[in-house]
Amino acid sequence: MPVDYLIGVDLGGTKIHTALATGNGDIVAETRIPTKTARGSAFVIGQIAATVRQLLKQVGVSPASIKVIALGSPGPLDISRGVIQFSPNLHWHDVPVKLLLEEQLSIKVIIDNDANAAALGEYMFGAGKGTKNMVYITVSTGVGGGLILGGQLYHGSSDGAGEIGHTIVLPDGPLCNCGARGCLEALSSGTAIAREARCLVNRGGGKNILNRAGGDPGEINSVVVAAAAAEGDPEAALIIDQASRYLGIGVANVINLLNPDMVVLGGGVMEIGEPVWRGIRQEVQSRAFQPSRERAQIVPAALGQRSGVIGAIALAMQ
Ligand SMILES: [Zn+2]
Repeated sequence: MPVDYLIGVDLGGTKIHTALATGNGDIVAETRIPTKTARGSAFVIGQIAATVRQLLKQVGVSPASIKVIALGSPGPLDISRGVIQFSPNLHWHDVPVKLLLEEQLSIKVIIDNDANAAALGEYMFGAGKGTKNMVYITVSTGVGGGLILGGQLYHGSSDGAGEIGHTIVLPDGPLCNCGARGCLEALSSGTAIAREARCLVNRGGGKNILNRAGGDPGEINSVVVAAAAAEGDPEAALIIDQASRYLGIGVANVINLLNPDMVVLGGGVMEIGEPVWRGIRQEVQSRAFQPSRERAQIVPAALGQRSGVIGAIALAMQ
């Protein structure tokens, strides 16, 4: 009896992570290559196709045995047409990635938002196993999210659901990449933490932070701020605390809106650890309705750096 296989692709601005898995999601082979973003979309799509062919060869599987290739990409996307409408990291506009890959590989291709894929991955294989209503939030350079409602990935009416990073938590707050003010992403992301620290340095403060960045404000990032905070620097600790409190407000909002069983938090900023979790717990405790907050477990993501590719495999399994 022929065995069916699946391919998952996590397409990012810096790397393309591809895995070949059996129909029940067991990964058989995987590979990670740098994205040659500067060479343009046609070249990058060629990179994906070449990677898929290489994995097929490595495992000794024919293209006919692959049921589907699922690709997770930063949005916004037109999921039904398989078009990446805009990707700031890749500098792509309206790239019909589904059509182009299907032409090259003659295998069915589906696409979805990378945070949706990671949410599905956590739900099927990670921290969210066994839940029914799960919210996934990733806090790194930006803030992304994905919703599992009634055991299904929820896309909304035009594939735009789950953008928790662009919910407004501070009217007239800092300008966000999306053009609005006071988005969660503009207050809690790694980029926001670095921006606050640079503002502090510009005002003449933040000596410890600046020292840790080798004296160059351009080198300040959330890792530098977190390290200064961990050493007891009160200015750095305040910046981390503020970011985590806004995150807690965002989590309290989704708990009140959706009454989930679980909120899964992943991404680089969550690796700062206890100072961030403390701020989130305190805000949720004081702002979310008691029955809903008592029901919602708030837990760290389990899949780490592989969440994207495992999520893409989970998408392929749907
Ligand atoms: Zn925004």
